Amino acid sequence: MAVDSLSFCDLAVPGVRDLHPYQPGKPEAELAREYGVTDIVKLASNENPLGPSPRAAAAVREAASGLHRYPEGSAYELRHALAAHHELPPECLTFGNGSNDVLDLVARAFLGPGREAVIARHAFAVYAIATRTVGADALVAAANPADHPRPYGHDLTAMGACISGRTRVVFIANPNNPTGSWLTGNELEDFLAGVPREVIVVLDEAYVDYALDREGYVQCVPWLTRYPNLVITRTFSKIYGLAGLRVGYAMSSPEIADLLNRARHPFNVNAAAQAAAVAALGDREHIDRSVASNRVERDRVAAILTEQGLNVLPSAGNFLAIEVGEQAHEVHERLLHAGVIVRPIAGYGMPRFLRLSLGTDTENDRFLDALAEARQAGLVERTR
Ligand SMILES: *Cc1c(COP(=O)(O)O)cnc(C)c1O
Repeated sequence: MAVDSLSFCDLAVPGVRDLHPYQPGKPEAELAREYGVTDIVKLASNENPLGPSPRAAAAVREAASGLHRYPEGSAYELRHALAAHHELPPECLTFGNGSNDVLDLVARAFLGPGREAVIARHAFAVYAIATRTVGADALVAAANPADHPRPYGHDLTAMGACISGRTRVVFIANPNNPTGSWLTGNELEDFLAGVPREVIVVLDEAYVDYALDREGYVQCVPWLTRYPNLVITRTFSKIYGLAGLRVGYAMSSPEIADLLNRARHPFNVNAAAQAAAVAALGDREHIDRSVASNRVERDRVAAILTEQGLNVLPSAGNFLAIEVGEQAHEVHERLLHAGVIVRPIAGYGMPRFLRLSLGTDTENDRFLDALAEARQAGLVERTR
């Protein structure tokens, strides 16, 4: 917006001037408004199709009568529940309004003008946004090539080679969104062993529960004592089904947690979210059911698409990156008209792909039917 010759864009800090806003999955209500479609399935934001734990929903209702009070800034109950869950001292935890908030805290505490973060090509978009917003540079390392066993995944050797004296943070998503690719425990340990201690390695484990059955995948929480520069982030938005409430956290050395906590807004996790997260953490049955359902659907849908001649990337998440070809944009539009919302990932350097968040079996069948229509219209290529 310009007033006379004044452009506010010129007044913004350089990092923000050059940013593109994060593109979320299209909300159902928006599709209904814009396309006049009803009977919509949203498979675009990697949410849990089984919904939240009933115990979490009950905790929110119970929290409602206390909403005139500020939440506990220290997230006392949630902190102690998670400390017990992970067998870590409570002072190793830092809470965020979603784990994106925690990623932002890392950037605000450790990055700034003259400093660099290393990220991988095709990595989750928030790392670059958090980095550039505070005036630091995001160095993008090449990813695995398309014919690699883990196509488009992080190349830790390339990432390591990007580290310089100005590097303060490395962001690693394991598994990564939107590729679904994952790193093995051995690869990660070799990398951590070679990284200078003054570089903070952020390991984003948003999809950890979906990845545990994948070959070579390991949980890295026990490494925190060995690598004081390691920060592991987790979220309640995915397997726990609480994306709408916004709770995430970091696990780190108490020293790093203390620094993140200094940059944190005092009441960044609301009272309903804290109560729901404690309840969700305690509902193991809901988590197991969610993992099992995802495992079955991930295998089933990938097998069908592969059989149909489509390149589906191996995934350790609750989503699939599917190569539909040159006309991915048109396929996406076609799916929207059929009431099926998926995510185009051209902005991630993958213009031939669409990302499908796995839903229930009936939701996934809706996607497969809509894709079949797009194929009949000649929009879908053979990609394998
Ligand atoms: C979804 C996602 C998150 C979680 O974000 P929240 O802010 O916790 O909702 C974090 N990292 C990655 C890679 C994700 O895909």
